[in-house]
Amino acid sequence: MRSWVEISREQIVQNYWTIKQRVGAGIEVMPVIKADAYNHGAVQVAATLVKEGVGRLAVASVEEATELRLAGIDAALVVMGGVLPCEREAILEYGLTPVLHSPEDVRNLEAAAVKRRITARYHVKVDSGLGRLGTRAACADIAAAVRSAGTIMLEGLMTHLASAEDFTLSQTEDQIRRFFTVVHELRSLGVHAPLFHLSSTNAIAYGRRAAWQTLVRPGLSLYGYVSPPRGTPPERLLQTQPALTWKASVLAVKHLPGGVLVGYNGRYRTSRPTRMAVVAAGYADGYPHQLGNKGKVLVKGILAPVMGAVSMDLLTVDVTDCPEVAPGDAVILLGRERGVSVDAQEIASLAGTISYAILCGIGKRVHRRYVD
Ligand SMILES: *Cc1c(COP(=O)(O)O)cnc(C)c1O
Repeated sequence: MRSWVEISREQIVQNYWTIKQRVGAGIEVMPVIKADAYNHGAVQVAATLVKEGVGRLAVASVEEATELRLAGIDAALVVMGGVLPCEREAILEYGLTPVLHSPEDVRNLEAAAVKRRITARYHVKVDSGLGRLGTRAACADIAAAVRSAGTIMLEGLMTHLASAEDFTLSQTEDQIRRFFTVVHELRSLGVHAPLFHLSSTNAIAYGRRAAWQTLVRPGLSLYGYVSPPRGTPPERLLQTQPALTWKASVLAVKHLPGGVLVGYNGRYRTSRPTRMAVVAAGYADGYPHQLGNKGKVLVKGILAPVMGAVSMDLLTVDVTDCPEVAPGDAVILLGRERGVSVDAQEIASLAGTISYAILCGIGKRVHRRYVD
């Protein structure tokens, strides 16, 4: 194989229990497995978590939820990323739990449910200041829609935080305050929901306890990462470990004299006689093009610098200071070996992006293997 990821389901399970213990008894943990579980394989991750007793999972889309249903996952599936008009039928058909984003959404789902004579549970998302999906309607309008929807059932009220890892702003406190103003007003209008939720990874990891409420929605931390903080956060509460290692095979090893150019646009020139490995992964596999002349890969426990541009299918690395390496040997693009690690956060920082995008960007021609 040219390039593959090795995924530890056991590590994801450990991460789940770490989060669960951190938030404590009485708070449900709803793992977020959208984007194919951040590229860890949604069906595998779902099945693994269901075995641990997880009863509710979150995804972004009806398509993702449907795939899980068809694979036999019978946990509640909360669809957080919006429902298209053409997807309403599938919500009912597959027993999904949509997050609705307007009174209009509630009326439309009710009408479809009445027509099909099928009930459904739903959550309503309030835009408390993220400024994306979520309703900004007057509470009276939300309450009227919820109260007149007698076939479908309101299960949760939620919001999403824009900057929970940022301690230079008061945006999170402002959002929490606005959300509870809406919750209390809705309650006074006769709207009660069993679940309230606001927190994804960063609000858990940085101890934004006022946002934990009855349920938390961790994604990134389940896969071992937390966003770096801004400003001065309180002590980080969550220490989960990466569950994914990304490897690629060496295709060729070459000896270059000093002074020769390497790769597209001659962006690298050897400064000494150099042993170079050509590795079978490139930006088409999701290794960021921005890592040209910047990235490092692990070769037998030693960090080997990327030389020159990252190509579509290939990487060139300087292995002069590494032990012998031969065609067919595996190197680690993302992972840990002999106590040395290159993780998604480091790669993201070098590439000027976020760890989420590195994990989600691993390409579809990269094979996936479960190691436990
Ligand atoms: C993706 C997502 C999450 C999970 O976020 P992480 O930062 O990965 O923990 C939670 N809630 C909503 C609404 C999301 O879209």
